[in-house]
Amino acid sequence: MMPTVRYSLGDVVRMKKQHPCGSFEWEILRVGMDFRIRCLKCGRMVMLPRPKFEKSVKALVKSAIPEATTVQNSSQ
Ligand SMILES: [Zn+2]
Repeated sequence: MMPTVRYSLGDVVRMKKQHPCGSFEWEILRVGMDFRIRCLKCGRMVMLPRPKFEKSVKALVKSAIPEATTVQNSSQ
């Protein structure tokens, strides 16, 4: 069993499958029963049912919630 990850708006996730444009990374625009995500490279938006979305995600790249991330990137 995988631990439950809480996704929130603004999170960036890495997908298992590569988008035709070559990108693996998507930004979460909406959470709920369905997730709406946007490809970071080409900007295409896709709606996915939550179970399908969770199966497609390989990793959470960037969390929009500061407490959820232990590593902080302070380079400016
Ligand atoms: Zn794309």
